[in-house]
Amino acid sequence: MYVLKFGGTSVGTVASIRSLKPILKKRAKDGPLIVVVSAMAGITNQLLEAISLAEKGNDEYQLILKSIEEQHIQTIRELIDENGQSDILEKITKLLDELKSTLGGVLSLREATTNSKKLISSFGERMSSLIIYNYLKSHFSAVSLIDPVKIITCRIEQDQTYVQMEVSRKNAGKLKLTQLNVIPGFIAGDESGKVVTLGRGGSDYSAALFANFFDAKMLEIWSDVDGLMTADPRLVSNAKVIEELSYEEALELSHFGAKVIYPPSIQPAMVKKIPIQILNTFSPEKPGTRVTRGFRDQSLIRGISSMQDISLLNLKGSGMIGIPKFSYRLFQSLSENHINVILITQASSEHTICVGIESRDQKKAEKVINRTFSNEIETGQLEPVKVDGDLGIVALVGSSMKNQVGISGQMFSALGRNGISIKAIAQGSSERNISVVIEKEDLTKAINLLHESFFEHEIRRINLFMVGAGNVGKELLKQVKKQQAYLLKEHHLDVRVIALANSKKMIFEEETEGINLSEWEDKLKEGATYSIDSFIDKMDQINLRNSIFLDVTASGEIAEKYPSILKKSISIATPNKVAATASHSEFLNLKQLERKFKAQFLFETNVCAGLPVISTLRDLVKSGDRIHKIQAVLSGTLNFLFNNYDGTEKFVAIVRRAKEEGYSEPDPRLDLSGEDVKRKILILARESGYAMEMDDVSGESFVPETCMNAKNIEGFFSELGKQESHFKELLQKAKESTCKIRYVATLENGKAKTELQFVKSNHPFYNLEGSDNIVLFYTDRYSNQPLVVKGAGAGAEVTASGIFADIMRISAANQS
Ligand code: ADP
Ligand code: ASP
Ligand code: MG
Repeated sequence: MYVLKFGGTSVGTVASIRSLKPILKKRAKDGPLIVVVSAMAGITNQLLEAISLAEKGNDEYQLILKSIEEQHIQTIRELIDENGQSDILEKITKLLDELKSTLGGVLSLREATTNSKKLISSFGERMSSLIIYNYLKSHFSAVSLIDPVKIITCRIEQDQTYVQMEVSRKNAGKLKLTQLNVIPGFIAGDESGKVVTLGRGGSDYSAALFANFFDAKMLEIWSDVDGLMTADPRLVSNAKVIEELSYEEALELSHFGAKVIYPPSIQPAMVKKIPIQILNTFSPEKPGTRVTRGFRDQSLIRGISSMQDISLLNLKGSGMIGIPKFSYRLFQSLSENHINVILITQASSEHTICVGIESRDQKKAEKVINRTFSNEIETGQLEPVKVDGDLGIVALVGSSMKNQVGISGQMFSALGRNGISIKAIAQGSSERNISVVIEKEDLTKAINLLHESFFEHEIRRINLFMVGAGNVGKELLKQVKKQQAYLLKEHHLDVRVIALANSKKMIFEEETEGINLSEWEDKLKEGATYSIDSFIDKMDQINLRNSIFLDVTASGEIAEKYPSILKKSISIATPNKVAATASHSEFLNLKQLERKFKAQFLFETNVCAGLPVISTLRDLVKSGDRIHKIQAVLSGTLNFLFNNYDGTEKFVAIVRRAKEEGYSEPDPRLDLSGEDVKRKILILARESGYAMEMDDVSGESFVPETCMNAKNIEGFFSELGKQESHFKELLQKAKESTCKIRYVATLENGKAKTELQFVKSNHPFYNLEGSDNIVLFYTDRYSNQPLVVKGAGAGAEVTASGIFADIMRISAANQS
C-alpha cells in the first residue's frame, strides 16, 4: 500500500490535477492507493482572511468567497466531462452555501468561535477532494471518497488537538478500501464528530497518519520542489536536493522552517519505519528525497533552515540558582499559555537563561513570565524579563556533526567575517543542530553564506560595489569582464559587479548576474542620481555576503566614509591615497577597524600602481624581517620626464606629453612638486611600522617656485616654458658626470626624504625605462643585496590590474 499526498500547488490548477493521473496509474499497479489531497493552492489562506474580515464586520469577505467560488467552478468546467458536471456542481454549490452561511454567522456575531474557524478553514480540502475524486472516477475503475472526520479522531485539550491513535486506527480498520481512496487532508473530527483541523500544512500529517494506520510500504509527499533541499530554494538559488536523510534530520530541518514537510508528519511514519519520499508533481521522473531510518551519510551538514519573526526572552538575576523549581516554573508557565519554545540557551553560570519564541507570542510571554516570577522580581532576585524582537534563527542540521569539532567555528567565522552578530547560540540536545539567533534583516545573507561555506565548495560569490568609472575604473571593468568566465571555471569564483557609480549617476543590479559589463556605459547614463551616502545606504540595504567596496576615485569625501564601511565588515580596495596619507591616527583607526570587523582595507595601487610593493613589504614585516632602508623611484611621471628629456625637445613639451598619455596626475603639479612621491614614501614608512605624518617627510622641489605658484594648470605650463634654462642646466650637470637624473625617495632610520639625485651607470636606478618604478628594500635578510621590485609604475592598465589583485587577496582571505 502506498499513501500519496498531493499539496496545494499539485492540485492548484486544472493542468496540475491532470498530472496526478499518470503518477497514480503507475503506482496503482502495486495495489490500492490512499490519495490525500490539500486545498487548491492559496485557498486556506483566503478562507482565513475571509474569517478575519467577517470578524471585523467587513463584508469584503464576500469578494474572497466569490473568487473561491469562481475558481472551483471554473476548474470543474474545464476538468470534468460535461455529462458529470451537473452532479458535482450541485455538491460544490451546496458546500459553498454552507460556507457562506457559516461566514454570515461570523459576520453577524462579529466573532468566530474556535469551532467555526476550524469548520470554515476545512472547506478548501472538502472542495478540492470532491473535484479530484470526480476527475479520477472517470479514469480508474474503483475510486472512493473518504471522510476523515469519521476516521481521525482527536481529543481537544485547551485548544490543542491531539490525535487519538488507537481509536483512529480502529476507525480506519473498518474502511473498505478500493483501488483509489481519495481523502481530504488537514481535516479530522473531535470525539463528538465535529470538524477539527490539524494545523497549517496538516495534510502531510493526515497522510502520515493513514500510512501508519495501514502500515503503508511508502509515504509519498508530492509537492512543487524536487525534494527536501539543502536550504529553502526561494532564499538560496544554489540549494541542492538532499538524496537521502534520516527521520531525525528531516524532523530537525522541518522544525526550523523547511516547509516542504510538516514536522508532526514524521513521527507516525517513523514509529512504523515507513520510508517517506518527497517528490515533485511537476517533474515526477526525478528521484526526490528519501527519508528513512538507518540512513547515515558521511557529510556532516545535511541542510540549513531558517525561521523569521523570532523574539528572545532574557532572564537574568543573581538569585536564579536559589529560586526553587525555576526552570520548571518558567517552562510550565509558557506551556500553559501555549507559547511555543523554539530554542533555549543557558549560560554556564546559570545566572541567565534565554528563550527563543515566535514574535507573535512576545507580549503574552513577557506578561506571563513577569507574573510567574513577580515575587522574585520584587525582591530583586530576578530582573524583569528583557525582550529582544525582530530576530530570526538559522540552523545547521546534520546527524554526524556531534562527533565533529570545528563546525561551530566555521559557522561563526563565516558569519563574523560578514558582519553578522550572533545574539544567541543553541546546540539542540540531540546534537543534530546548531542554531544561532541573529537580526531578521541578516537572515537571507546568513543562510546564503552558510550554504556557500558548507555546500558550495565549488563556487564562491564575490560582490563588487564600485565608485569611479574614469580611466582606471573603465579599465578595471574591462579586466573583470574579461576574467569573469576564467575565474569561474578555473578558480570557482563568481565575481559580480553589483553596483557602479560615477560622479553623477549610480546603478545597482543585485537580482540577476550583476551588472552586464558589455553595456554598463549606457545603463549608467540612465542610473539614479549619485551621492556617496545614498550609494552606501543602498549597499547596506542589499546586505550581500562577500561584498567589496572599490573606490576608484581620488575623492576625500569618499575616503571619509571608509570607517563606516569597514564597520559593516565590508572590505575596501582602492587606488585612492587620501585615507592612507591622512593623519596617522586616522590611518591607525582604519587598521583597528580592519581587525575588529574582520574586513580588509587594501591599497596596493597607492604605491607603484600594480607592482606588488606594499604586499611585499607587509609579507616581510609579517614574517619577522626588519626594514633598515627603503630607496625608491616612485614616480612614473617624473621618470618618464627624465628619461625623455635629452635637450632636443623642451622640458615643458615632455610634461605636456606625460599628461596627454595619462602618466601624470590630472594636475601635473602634484607630480612635479614631489608631493605625490612624498605621499608614497609616507605610506611605505607607515607600513614599515613608523608613526609618521606627511610633514615629517622632508623634500626639495626641483621646479622653480614661480612655476608652482602659478594660478592654474595653464599658467603652470606657461611658467614652465619660461624656465627651460633651469632644466637645461640640470641636464648639463648630469651629462658632465655621466649620470642620469632620478627623483629618489628614501626611508632610513625612521626618516623619510625625497630629492633629485644624479645616478651613475652602476646604480640600480640608472637603467629605468619609460615610466618604470623601482623599490629597493634593505632588511635584516636582505642586508647586502636589496630585495628589488621593479616595473611599470603608472598607467590605467597596471593600476587596474593592481586593484584586481587586491580583490583576489580579499576573496582568498575570506575563504580561509
Ligand atoms: P505543499 O503545498 O505541496 O504542501 P508547501 O508550500 O507546504 O507545499 O511546501 C513546499 C515549499 O517549501 C517549496 O515550494 C519551498 O519553497 C519551501 N521550502 C522551504 N524550505 C525548503 C527546503 N529545505 N526544501 C524544499 N523546499 C523548501
Ligand atoms: N490546506 C492546508 C494549509 O494550507 C493544509 C495543507 O495544505 O497541508 O495549511
Ligand atoms: Mg505543505
